Amino acid sequence: MRRVFVAGSINMDVVATADRHPKVGETVAGKEVHYFPGGKGANQAVAVAKLGASSTLIGRLGTDAFGQQLRQFLAAQSVDLTLVKDTADVHTGTAVITIADADNTIVVVPGANALVSAEDVAAPVLAKGDVAVSQFEIPQAAIAAFFKRARTAAATTILNPAPARPCGRDLLDLVDILILNETELGLLAQAELHDTDEPVRFVEAARRLPTASDKIICVTLGKRGVLALIGGEPMLIAGRVVKAVDTTGAGDCFVGALAAQLANGKPIRDALEYANAAASICVQRMGAAPSMPTAAEVAAMRG
Ligand code: ATP
Repeated sequence: MRRVFVAGSINMDVVATADRHPKVGETVAGKEVHYFPGGKGANQAVAVAKLGASSTLIGRLGTDAFGQQLRQFLAAQSVDLTLVKDTADVHTGTAVITIADADNTIVVVPGANALVSAEDVAAPVLAKGDVAVSQFEIPQAAIAAFFKRARTAAATTILNPAPARPCGRDLLDLVDILILNETELGLLAQAELHDTDEPVRFVEAARRLPTASDKIICVTLGKRGVLALIGGEPMLIAGRVVKAVDTTGAGDCFVGALAAQLANGKPIRDALEYANAAASICVQRMGAAPSMPTAAEVAAMRG
């Protein structure tokens, strides 16, 4: 069986709810506090594993209590953690989130994630047909080293350049499949895009990306679904009509589901339809990693 390797971030999201946000210098009494496993790398690895594909995470944790809790959680989701290093003298990646009045503030402190290195991603033995996945919450030098190794082994590389940040053509040229939302596309293509734009605007922007035209580009459009450019030809897969309660992690679910399907030998068009269905299940539940669907749930939805 082909394997999916995800090189990426692992965070604990600490969420405090309150009636209102404090002003600068002020303290307010909160209502509840929750701890959610997160980080794009961890979320995507969980999505792969829950959908029944082999999922190996490459990343770093601190030697603190959050690190231990995240290790337990991820192991319970059948994510292979043999390539996740415990790193002394640095804390586990942590996002501090406050929610009040349906608005949130977020401070993400990368901690151990910032230390993921080219040596860390040299460990996995990739084989032909394996899938290598990464995102922008670990250093780009490590991602480039990972994708170079993957390419040498004839594995497929998937980049989800999120959160949006600039990157050079050198890295984009190592990517087989680019999966990004309109914000990330706008930044990389230097185009002003809005989530209400007509799909043709996204096609134009995707064609302006500074990279080779043979790449598969998937622009996720939230409830409108996904627009893919395959061999330069656009293809729109309409979003499933569902009652969304929390879209956190929808993009991560989409990426993980697509990677899992490709590792299972499915053609790209089928994999895109499947990922669109999987992500539409994710948005009907609260949280990111805990809201990833199982293969049986996706099968039931697709009928
Ligand atoms: P996030 O950062 O919240 O994880 P994102 O911006 O990376 O999200 P989106 O484009 O919002 O990603 O969503 C990814 C995919 O999830 C979409 O392409 C679609 O398949 C599915 N999806 C998202 N929102 C909805 C929705 N309201 N209804 C149905 N499907 C949805």
